[in-house]
Amino acid sequence: MSEYVIFDNEKVIEYIKKVGSFFDNDAVISSNEFGDGNLNLVFRVQDTGGNSIIVKQALPYARCVGESWPLTLDRARIEANVLKRHAAVCPANTAKVLHHDSTLAVTVLEDLGQLQILRSALNKAQTFTNLGRDIAHYLARTSFYHSSFYLSPTNKKALVTEFTNPELCAITEDLFFDDPYRQSERNQYPQALESHVAKLRNNVPLLLEIAKLKAKFLTASEALLHGDIHTGSIFVGTHETKVIDPEFGFFGPIGFDLGSFIGNLLLNYCAQQGRIKALPQRRKMQIYLLDTISVCLREFYVNWLSLAQQDTKDLALQASGFAEHFLISVLQDSVGYCGSELIRRTIGLAHVADIDEIEDEQTRLLVQQQALLLGEQQALLLGEQLILNAKNCQSVEDIYQLIIGSVQ
Ligand code: ADP
Ligand code: MG
Repeated sequence: MSEYVIFDNEKVIEYIKKVGSFFDNDAVISSNEFGDGNLNLVFRVQDTGGNSIIVKQALPYARCVGESWPLTLDRARIEANVLKRHAAVCPANTAKVLHHDSTLAVTVLEDLGQLQILRSALNKAQTFTNLGRDIAHYLARTSFYHSSFYLSPTNKKALVTEFTNPELCAITEDLFFDDPYRQSERNQYPQALESHVAKLRNNVPLLLEIAKLKAKFLTASEALLHGDIHTGSIFVGTHETKVIDPEFGFFGPIGFDLGSFIGNLLLNYCAQQGRIKALPQRRKMQIYLLDTISVCLREFYVNWLSLAQQDTKDLALQASGFAEHFLISVLQDSVGYCGSELIRRTIGLAHVADIDEIEDEQTRLLVQQQALLLGEQQALLLGEQLILNAKNCQSVEDIYQLIIGSVQ
């Protein structure tokens, strides 16, 4: 156990050599810090023979803001342990932890550099056949095996304590459920949206739904969530889907993860309005996104139900019809969380590159003048409608039809 010290490339190499076991003893290794995330340092350490690992270190503050926003180092422990637990039940879709040191807030991970970050790939209009199925599989398995259906009450309570993550949850509580609905210096949106934002903040039924969603986020310890599963937290390839970065992990409502993922696909759906000019290609991409949402919802439902039927340990929760009842409430929650993700990513602090950073200059101009504004307004309306209608949905088909109806 060493004392916490912020790594640079030299210190990383020294540390990796000391831990040993990653490279041959006589290997010549180099390091490069390349993290593009908001919060942490990410180094790639490699030898001359093409072997590499990723070293991720938490800073005692949020990287994107600086030392004025202190942030607990404990998030590194949470992230490594969520990855380990999720990998134990879904190894195919979880990034592998090779080593972790809580004092240094350092985690060594398998290098997934041969894959792409999903958000970047979607922004290049690339599609992945297995994406909806794989994420459904990941979300169903990680949530079921960390729920009261499977864990003993004693074990579950111990894990809830182990994964208590107050500082990072507070960020979500503020940015997701509060800021978009009040005046806050952190919010960011163009002046042209001001009247719509004002309307949203005066929408009493919407505020009531947001309150219910926040209350559930604050109180429902349903399962060990990823906590931040947007399209920047997923690596994809033709045959692979790997989830990274669960530092916001905690025991919360299962629909939060499902809704966050679907919300980010819908944000990309909206952004395509300003990204792909040719209508047939744009519709093709948008249909792919809707199909992925459809597959994800259905597969999540089917996977979860079959896990519940085979593996529910709790006697009372085995009652006929209970798993179905529980799953519908999860799906309803997911529509609400999806809607609030669309709203907060459009007018809150953290936006998405899909809408904000269109690569092609002409397209970016188009977005600035017309399409981005339209996309943002669409996202706002979409979020609002989804949230208001969530309780009318009683089957996985109803949920999908609601989402489809909202985007057409
Ligand atoms: P943060 O928590 O700061 O957001 P992330 O975990 O999202 O950090 O990682 C930031 C970036 O580092 C990712 O977008 C990706 O490019 C790279 N990265 C992270 N983990 C890996 C990995 N296991 N393999 C390859 N690249 C990675
Ligand atoms: Mg991140």
